[in-house]
Amino acid sequence: MPPHLYDITRTVSASTAVWQGDAPYHVEPKLRLEDGWAVNLMTVTTTPHVGTHADAYFHYEPDGAHPATMPLDAYIGRARVLTVSKRSGALLPDDLPAAPAGAERLLIHSHVSDLDDSVFAPEFPYLSVELIDWLVGLGIRLIGLDSPSVDAVDSTALPCHHALYRHGIVNLENLLLRGVPDGDYELIALPLKLDAACASPVRAILRPLDSAS
Ligand SMILES: [Zn+2]
Repeated sequence: MPPHLYDITRTVSASTAVWQGDAPYHVEPKLRLEDGWAVNLMTVTTTPHVGTHADAYFHYEPDGAHPATMPLDAYIGRARVLTVSKRSGALLPDDLPAAPAGAERLLIHSHVSDLDDSVFAPEFPYLSVELIDWLVGLGIRLIGLDSPSVDAVDSTALPCHHALYRHGIVNLENLLLRGVPDGDYELIALPLKLDAACASPVRAILRPLDSAS
């Protein structure tokens, strides 16, 4: 029996890997029960790109949407998980085991899902504009990766991020697809309704379609 839900979210903790120079997740107590206060009250600081997250268009487009106004319906619905063997470099259509026709959302599973939450992948596969254009032609509106970026780690032109924006489709990064068989699921991965931010952590889950009722 497959599990009722696959939690495909990285745990967010102080040791969760973040981009070099980015602010890690940090929890600071403001009030403590043990000091006699009525509640524990914490202050959280973090990059919004910590763990599994949705980029907002504002991340790389000056007039782009913040998480609060990203198109919500893109983050819920039928999604296909496909595993790629390529360990690094730009993915092309031929690198996918099959064309994800009829899926609307594509989650790409690579070796990165085998890494611990605390490890920033020393190499990872990322998208290409050719792949994005091809997927859009198949009706894909969300592309998720277990990699930390849809572009190369040293890219400053960010051609894939801009291609997503141009097509009006959305992405998820740092998914955790370890143990998830390839196939079709219902994805739910909603960004928080954050104004002003450039990304939002998501709680990403997959429901097998036969239990999604
Ligand atoms: Zn990001």
